[in-house]
Amino acid sequence: MTLSTGSGSRRVRGGSCIATVVVAAVASLASVASVASVAAAMPLPVGGTSGVPTGSPSRPPSPPRDVVFTEDHRFYASPWYDGAWQEMIPFGCTQAPYYPRDPSCPRAQPGRHHGIDMFMPCGTKVRSAVRGVVVPTPNLGGAYGRLGMVIRSGRYDYVLGHLRRWYVRPGERVRPGQLVASSGKLAAPDGCHLHFEKRPAGAGYLAAVNPLRSLQRTVRRY
Ligand SMILES: [Zn+2]
Repeated sequence: MTLSTGSGSRRVRGGSCIATVVVAAVASLASVASVASVAAAMPLPVGGTSGVPTGSPSRPPSPPRDVVFTEDHRFYASPWYDGAWQEMIPFGCTQAPYYPRDPSCPRAQPGRHHGIDMFMPCGTKVRSAVRGVVVPTPNLGGAYGRLGMVIRSGRYDYVLGHLRRWYVRPGERVRPGQLVASSGKLAAPDGCHLHFEKRPAGAGYLAAVNPLRSLQRTVRRY
């Protein structure tokens, strides 16, 4: 299947599955298990805000949900979350339409994403992969949702965005492997996912660095 994107058309692997994924997302993820099985079974649609099927001509158009802005269709496990999931939006310049324009980015990818978004159903267990402290008042701002979490470990802060529920208290010490939260979609325009970000301790989002290595992803399957 071919989708129109900001940078032209591209062939999408597994495009016939788009309607299933989108409909599942629009149904407010009533069944996490079914979404998980759908997500685990096929790659997500790629890129752009147009061309997302709505299932029925009589239905109003749905906002784009669970759309990825990368051609990486691999499923990644990580000590930061349970299961294995696909990347939605990588770190850095992106064509995803949710971010303010960054003059240092090329025209085809004008916005800057300060973390890595990993698609996962709402309610997926989120863990700390580091020994650290849950920062009591992180002042993240609204874009991360009201339950955004910051875990400070050594010289860095690890920011977990769009969470649905916390399993730790502000100020609590955490250890690697500890359950700290579940994923959600609070303040996320594009559906359930985990925003993972790394900053120098105490710094704002503009100082964020590429968190890829800290995410410690390993490929589970293509
Ligand atoms: Zn993000």
